Amino acid sequence: MTSSPNTYQADYAVVGSGVAGLRAAIELSSSGSVLVLAKSNLSDSATAWAQGGIAVALSDEDEIALHEQDTLSAGDGLCRPESVALLVEEGPKYITQLIEWGTEFDRAGTKLAFTREAAHSRSRILHAHGDSTGREISRALLARAHKIPHLHLRAHSFTTSLILEEGRTVGVRFIDENDGSLHEVRALAVLLATGGLGQIYRETTNPEVATGDGMAIAYEAGAVLSDMEFIQFHPTALAIKGAPRFLLSEALRGEGGILRNILLERFMKRYAEAQELAPRDVVARAIVSEMHRTSAQHVYLDMTAKSAEFLQKRFPRIYSTCLGYGLDLATDMAPVCPAAHYMMGGVKTDLWGRTSIPGLYATGETADTGVHGANRLASNSLLEGLVFGARSGQAMTADRGYALDKLQNGAHPVKYKASTLPGNPAPRPDGHEHDGAGGHASGHATSAVNHSHSPGHSSGNSSGNSATSRSSVAHSAKLAAAAAASRSAATHSTKSAVSAAVPSWSARYSAKSATAVSAPREESVPSPAVATALAQIRDLMWRHVGIMRNGQELSAAVAFLDNMKLPHSERPGRHDYELSNLHSLALLMARSALAREESRGSHYRSDFPYRDDDLFQKHSLVQRAKDVTFQP
Ligand SMILES: Cc1cc2nc3c(=O)[nH]c(=O)nc-3n(C[C@H](O)[C@H](O)[C@H](O)COP(=O)(O)OP(=O)(O)OC[C@H]3O[C@@H](n4cnc5c(N)ncnc54)[C@H](O)[C@@H]3O)c2cc1C
Repeated sequence: MTSSPNTYQADYAVVGSGVAGLRAAIELSSSGSVLVLAKSNLSDSATAWAQGGIAVALSDEDEIALHEQDTLSAGDGLCRPESVALLVEEGPKYITQLIEWGTEFDRAGTKLAFTREAAHSRSRILHAHGDSTGREISRALLARAHKIPHLHLRAHSFTTSLILEEGRTVGVRFIDENDGSLHEVRALAVLLATGGLGQIYRETTNPEVATGDGMAIAYEAGAVLSDMEFIQFHPTALAIKGAPRFLLSEALRGEGGILRNILLERFMKRYAEAQELAPRDVVARAIVSEMHRTSAQHVYLDMTAKSAEFLQKRFPRIYSTCLGYGLDLATDMAPVCPAAHYMMGGVKTDLWGRTSIPGLYATGETADTGVHGANRLASNSLLEGLVFGARSGQAMTADRGYALDKLQNGAHPVKYKASTLPGNPAPRPDGHEHDGAGGHASGHATSAVNHSHSPGHSSGNSSGNSATSRSSVAHSAKLAAAAAASRSAATHSTKSAVSAAVPSWSARYSAKSATAVSAPREESVPSPAVATALAQIRDLMWRHVGIMRNGQELSAAVAFLDNMKLPHSERPGRHDYELSNLHSLALLMARSALAREESRGSHYRSDFPYRDDDLFQKHSLVQRAKDVTFQP
């Protein structure tokens, strides 16, 4: 069956409704119409799962320079100092704005309450509703976005690829998962904010949406990706057989949690002076060593020095989730093991989210701004999403004139009529109503471009709370069923709103490229062949491209992936694309890890156990059909 994709027009297309995509979209809404695409529900993101908090140097006892220093130290010599400086200097401004927009961070009396986490030299982590920080940030940003008339949010829209013309990104293709229909959105600029790729590993804390789609899509289009060997493993995921790898936040150790091996010995003193508060990579490797030494599948996190009352108040979600597994953290030690958690590498960008392809921008966990170097400092990623999401929006706005010029004066000039979408509030595809957002309803982003770091014009050259969870899937399914009717109606009204605004120049594309209609959402489980291939990749990545690596195993992983034949589908749907994306990213990660013959940050090679600044104080770069190279 073939059909023409529906074509819409927006000034800007944003793929992803996590902290980075939403913050960028709000910024962009001050200069044009914005369409945000999300592949599941709008609040289905790593952002909404973030527990511990968001780091910012705002407390009386803290300094921006200390936050900067801690970030650089965790990055193990590979952070881009100018990115780190922007993160810590601009962080307070964007957090203050987030509070003005209605985000309710926890307070001690009237003052913001800051907690301390591993590798932070000060208490600088803001949290919300105890351990629901990401959910609260997501709520506040979605509430604000919903009030902006020309900002349209479209759930269940799986983005498959970029539309490129004359070397520029001019839009994206996506599948409406409700009916499997194919769509295109044409835009002056496209932002990829699709989050991380934790699902590439057998053991992960990440939600199901974290399949690295944005990175794979950008790679396929020819963009440069960098630092793909650097993935952070969280030391403490709940290790109960058959249960999902639910994250036990770093903040638990920040509040005095102790790690013990199965002989109940406190072991971290053998590995690091800072013991339980050492950087994540150090703690993760120490746990793996202890697991090997004691032939165990886990170690224990011991919170029993804390009262049930304290734990319930400070970590309500973690405490109750553990209780659901029969563990009372106040009296029982929790079995834990490491799991893949956060991708430091990604689509290489400049300080404004510009990639190596004109018209294409990336932000959040999808991007590699160089902020995290070889290892992310805990709680810096939500902040990165805010700061660099906003900056990407500013750059896309600043580059708008250039994009228009290219469009009107390129080899195939088209007349551009500025798009002004009708003033209806964006519908909520998941059927819920938000309220309680502070700030203005007008939707015009308040922060002007910071001229001291003005984005200027560029040619485009760059210089949960639970792990993948059957119960959370069941819960989502219930919510989805309850909201099905309103979602369907909402999706259609979004579609017609955007369609109505298609400017004349885009009409010429609407009959383009007849393509097979993909599998609709009712069939949204992977076929047995896809499920088998996925399991093979995840298992391989865990065993050979995991916490401890060596040349022999990495070479074996590259060879296996190179020779792997992916199942073919006549009607490719979401799972087929995700498999293909994960496969190409697995290869990039294995090849980059093999090329980096040293140990640094989260990348540990037992055959090259030391850091080698002479050869490798550089970023790895990968691009389609090219070998891995290194660049300072
Ligand atoms: C369990 C857990 C706890 C964490 N705790 C913390 C913490 O306490 N502090 C902290 O700073 N960080 C934490 N992190 C990391 C942090 O949550 C993420 O790095 C951050 O939220 C990423 O934000 P993002 O906007 O880049 O992506 P996400 O929030 O993951 O959003 C990605 C979006 O992209 C969409 N998407 C993906 N692919 C497609 C596609 N093909 N088509 C359309 N849409 C697509 C998804 O639907 C989603 O809307 C945690 C992560 C996890 C998993």
